[in-house]
Amino acid sequence: MQTYHNKTVQQTAELLGTDIKTGLTHDEVKKRLHHYGKNELIEKKKKNIFIKFLEQFNDFMIIILLSAAAVSFITSIMQGDADITEPVIILAIVILNALLGVIQEKRAEKSLEALKKLSSPHACVLRNGNELNIPAANVVPGDILIISAGDLVAADCRLVTSNNLTTDESSLTGESVNAEKDASVVLEEFTALGDRKNIILSSTSVTGGKATAIVTGTGMNTEVGHIANMLLDDETPQTPLQLKLADTGKTLGIAALFVCLVIFIVGLFRHLPPFDMFMTAVSLAVAAIPEGLPAIVTIMLAIGVMRMSKHNAIVRNLPSVETLGSASVICSDKTGTLTQNKMTVTSFYTYDEKKLIRLCSMCCDCDEGHKSPTESAILAAAKKHGFDKSVLDKKYRRIAEIPFDSTRKRMTTMHRDIKGYKTIIKGALEFVLPLCTDIYNGQKAIPLTSQSKRKIISENSKMTSDGLRVIAVCYRDDYTKTAINENNMVFIGLIGIEDPPRKEAKQSVELCKRAGIRPIMITGDHAETALSVAKKIGIADDNSKVMTGDILEKISDNELALTINQYNIFARVTPSHKMKIVKALKANGEIVAMTGDGVNDAPALSAADIGCSMGITGTDVAKSASDMVLTDDNFATIIYAVREGRSIFSNIKKAVQFLLSSNIGEILTVFSGIMFGWSSPLTAIQLLWVNLVTDSLPAISLGLDTPDSDIMDKPPRSPKKGLFADGLWLTIIFEGLMIGALALLAFTIGANIFGGITAGRTMAFAVLSISQLVHAFNMRSEHSVFKAGIFKNPYLVLSLISGLILEVSVISVPYLANIFGVIPLNAMGWIVVTVLSVMPLIIVELQKFVSSFVWRKD
Ligand code: ATP
Repeated sequence: MQTYHNKTVQQTAELLGTDIKTGLTHDEVKKRLHHYGKNELIEKKKKNIFIKFLEQFNDFMIIILLSAAAVSFITSIMQGDADITEPVIILAIVILNALLGVIQEKRAEKSLEALKKLSSPHACVLRNGNELNIPAANVVPGDILIISAGDLVAADCRLVTSNNLTTDESSLTGESVNAEKDASVVLEEFTALGDRKNIILSSTSVTGGKATAIVTGTGMNTEVGHIANMLLDDETPQTPLQLKLADTGKTLGIAALFVCLVIFIVGLFRHLPPFDMFMTAVSLAVAAIPEGLPAIVTIMLAIGVMRMSKHNAIVRNLPSVETLGSASVICSDKTGTLTQNKMTVTSFYTYDEKKLIRLCSMCCDCDEGHKSPTESAILAAAKKHGFDKSVLDKKYRRIAEIPFDSTRKRMTTMHRDIKGYKTIIKGALEFVLPLCTDIYNGQKAIPLTSQSKRKIISENSKMTSDGLRVIAVCYRDDYTKTAINENNMVFIGLIGIEDPPRKEAKQSVELCKRAGIRPIMITGDHAETALSVAKKIGIADDNSKVMTGDILEKISDNELALTINQYNIFARVTPSHKMKIVKALKANGEIVAMTGDGVNDAPALSAADIGCSMGITGTDVAKSASDMVLTDDNFATIIYAVREGRSIFSNIKKAVQFLLSSNIGEILTVFSGIMFGWSSPLTAIQLLWVNLVTDSLPAISLGLDTPDSDIMDKPPRSPKKGLFADGLWLTIIFEGLMIGALALLAFTIGANIFGGITAGRTMAFAVLSISQLVHAFNMRSEHSVFKAGIFKNPYLVLSLISGLILEVSVISVPYLANIFGVIPLNAMGWIVVTVLSVMPLIIVELQKFVSSFVWRKD
């Protein structure tokens, strides 16, 4: 295999047929894409749809049911009575159910795949001499990558240039210390992977510095590709709720099985035909065991997550949807999230505005890969003053730099000019002024007195209390070339930059507070800038206090946990402080959502309950550490996502309540029928049909329901409170009893008034199905469904209509009625069915009215 760590840059470029100054041409890229394929890891082969279909039958009760149907089929044939309808119908219903299952699974899978694509990484490459930001999948060998801190490396590369480059290769080499990289070395052929300083590896993260590099391998032809099969896991992790429901489903399943066994045994004692009893018991088990619960929950989560992605919130990790609904604190960055990130220079404090802006613009990076709104604003102001950045860059060639980072809060560049060397620093005043010994007075540098220092600080304070971001600038001239020296600098001035709050921020903050969630602003900016913006959007008032980074630095974790409730604004923080804040909040039992964009924010994003990274300004590393990406970097989107999280949880609750109460109703009907000494109120086929018509469609329709209008008026749900808190089990059992009682009543009326057992079964069959379809509407709101708008969920209305059409057809079309063992009903029969079927609406309205008093404490 070709290795590159033992080659020079030139040799590597030649071997890979590329030009390090201009990169590949577009034609060449096309050819290479065709030849090498996309820069993607090949995922494990997906199960094909047929296997998925077969898997639907991999259920103990279904196997028993099908075996029983097969026995019945064979005995019918052997006895020559040729009545094979029952087994055929059972098979048809089971197949239909399996098809529904496959469709549901496929749908969930598709939505999850679409989500994966939405959050796929990008890479900055040099092609045809231009810098382009492209999807990482389109990178080819020979491409020149432009890399900076926070990037996830898109492919294996040989470095061409490097500037203080460090990477985190722990995922590949196991080495937890950052690896220092150096383009200039050429290594021995047998150098260990972890020691290849001139190589960077695909999917590792860049923790600091900058570099350019030639891509040497893509896709499966990378170090990570070689171990891809070990790393790739296309199983979607189950959320805690799914796991819990799967557990509940299992327990209920065992209970249902037990009841079915009792039904079967009691049936035998009552001398009911054993084979019929067996079929009824098994069908009941198939119908009543809530094996579909986790699948329904996945679909609901997937549907919700798709809906969120259309509203700029891409959830990377399904369990966080559940957590979102419980968020009690949202810690948000200021710049770009609460403000527009549309920065404009509005004021200066200096003796020489032109010189200030010229120097400051020389100390800016503003290429395709690193767009910083702060620097764009400075460059726009420089343009207004007649400076062209590219001309300045040619005249004052940059020979060294220390990039901006939010811990140092300043950036330093060193330039070569005709007279010698110029070092320029721009950054936050507290991090710049201590380096200065002189001040430029418009003509020359003079010593910086404590009086002029005080004046500078007071000007800075004026600008910050107007909500401006302030950049201080200083410089020094040297005649000889040295390493960057940041001491004895000459202060030249302050630049005030305005960044107005987002229009929707105030309203979102208000909504956030109404929902019992505490908004917290965390910013690298000055305390007064932060306070001024926080006041404008309602996070702070006149009594609010700000905690600054230097206090955070000193205070212990315990002290912070004790006092953190007094502060909603944290200013001049560094990313490591964010971690401290998350810990303190979590120690107080809060569920914390935290935003972040830089590479150093990654630990805090992982530690928070919901890490939210920025889609526009966020680094790949921050994105990959987060649970959710905000594609518009907007605070309002977090609030939207919390609302969605709450509403998904409430919809899941609706569907679970519906499914369980319906299933309990089915079991009770058959159980009581047999216990009362009657024959089974429903036959096997009828039970399977009821299950088919009433289960999936209404449940999924409930998953698409709009939430109660007061969903954001309540405090966050405590994550300790499970799905079944606040008496949900009692409600479910009550509703199950109600449905069972109505079906039994229908059975008795049918059997005694409308002429016999078949009429009884027909009416029980109709009432059991239709009352469940009607009962689904009860789930729409915790309050009166008439107030919430009974027909507001079109999917539910559709599932009712289609269910009704199917049910009425089965009963009224003689051929179908014959197959299903029912008889057409007369007008009176239908009236009774209708009255009994709408009863759940009336009864549950009453029950809600009563329990609103019992559970009012919420
Ligand atoms: P927020 O956390 O609200 O998003 P931020 O992350 O933008 O704020 P930092 O980027 O840490 O905050 O900026 C802190 C300070 O650093 C600013 O107040 C400004 O003075 C200075 N600063 C910001 N950007 C630059 C830059 N590109 N070069 C030099 N100094 C900068």
